[in-house]
Amino acid sequence: MAERVHDLVIDDEYIHSLMQTGPVEADGIRNILDRAARGEGLGLDEAAALLNVSGEPCLDMIYSTAREIKEKAFGKRIGLFAPLYVSNRCINNCLYCGFRRDNQQADRRTLSIPEIAQQAAFLYGKGHRRLLLVAGEDPSASSVEYLTAAVEAVYRETGIRIVHVNAAPMTVEDFSRLKASGAGVYQCFQETYHRKTYERMHPSGLKHDYHKRLSAMDRAMEGGFEDVGMGALLGLYDYRFEVLSLIAHARYLEEHYGAGPHTIAVPRLMPAEGAALIQAPFPVSDRDFRKIVAVYRIAVPYAGVVVSTRESADLRDQVIHLGASQISAGSRTDIGGYTHPDQGGGTSQFSLNDTRSLEEVVRSVLGAGLLPSLCTACYRAGRTGERFRTKAGKGEIRDFCLTHALSSLTEYLREHAGSATQKQFEISNLKFEIKQKGGDENSCQW
Ligand code: SAM
Ligand code: SF4
Repeated sequence: MAERVHDLVIDDEYIHSLMQTGPVEADGIRNILDRAARGEGLGLDEAAALLNVSGEPCLDMIYSTAREIKEKAFGKRIGLFAPLYVSNRCINNCLYCGFRRDNQQADRRTLSIPEIAQQAAFLYGKGHRRLLLVAGEDPSASSVEYLTAAVEAVYRETGIRIVHVNAAPMTVEDFSRLKASGAGVYQCFQETYHRKTYERMHPSGLKHDYHKRLSAMDRAMEGGFEDVGMGALLGLYDYRFEVLSLIAHARYLEEHYGAGPHTIAVPRLMPAEGAALIQAPFPVSDRDFRKIVAVYRIAVPYAGVVVSTRESADLRDQVIHLGASQISAGSRTDIGGYTHPDQGGGTSQFSLNDTRSLEEVVRSVLGAGLLPSLCTACYRAGRTGERFRTKAGKGEIRDFCLTHALSSLTEYLREHAGSATQKQFEISNLKFEIKQKGGDENSCQW
């Protein structure tokens, strides 16, 4: 397998040619969606046809197929997590980010390991069970030793059940060490798959090397991460190019490693204090954002599609019905910001648009007829990588998750929710509602 590492090529010309194909008639779109709904996925040409759709009737068809596919794979479940920003020291100069090296105004901080455990304990106390550690790239601040010590401390000192990591790409050996610490998913966004744009946006530092970034997932998988999280930062280049390239990247991982991305995040460029980029060169509208979420869901049915608090509460409330299956909640992107919310921690990475607490998000997801899940059973039971993909494809994750998601929700309501929420969403009422809806509380009907 090792000789295959680094051989992904994003075919610039081919992807641009797909983007230029003319609009497909409604019947053609229907045929693509019918095939995709049978679990046959999407070819790149089909994904391009969906991305080129702009009329409401065809968009509605895309949304309802995305919803159907999401429910088939994951049921009503919406996974909840919190990011934990541990360091904003960074040697890179990404034009869009507040942590960039040349931002002289930034208040730079790196949490100590006890401080990380303290932040994690705070999030545990709020009801979170799943964290994503996030760090800038600086070998002297957020080395692999630091990250592994952080992951181990969170498990050792708190009840957090799974810790994922979003940090700079590493060597295969360092990925193995990080994996050995118990990290769940390794997440890294390509930012932009368009090479020229990539080089312009990342003018210096280790991140300048496009190919090193593109091959990060190979090294992570070689190093033992069965689960990787991908994403393209929307707004840097034409979103159709980014989405098609990410799907090509996912297919490459499937073919070479037997498992594609565990998650696909949909980060959209937001204003960041101290960033060099004032405006997105290729702004993505809310309408296109919804379509992108749905196309990712249809193209890669087994992947968790993740929408963060970069997006507004209103938009997030919409996309959980259009294919998104994981959302962050109660987030802070400043360093140490959870325990010092008033004075704030070190500089934030970007501005947040959904500042609802975890409890408010739980209420909102429940109110939408969906099931907020703090469950981490899949990771703990080894349902990862290819096993997860196969089970999600057959709808077995959906069946398995209902029971586990309900018990994690019961635990949340009992131990962390306020009395008004407890009263409104008492678990026996939920089960009653399930039955009222004609479902079996122990099956996948709800
Ligand atoms: N430093 C590591 C890296 O760059 O991969 C990981 C952490 S970085 C803080 C996490 C992600 O935040 C980046 O991959 C980027 O996509 C996203 N990001 C940076 N600036 C952003 C902005 N202004 N708006 C939205 N997302 C942003
Ligand atoms: Fe550093 Fe990551 Fe921000 Fe780039 S996106 S400046 S690498 S923290």
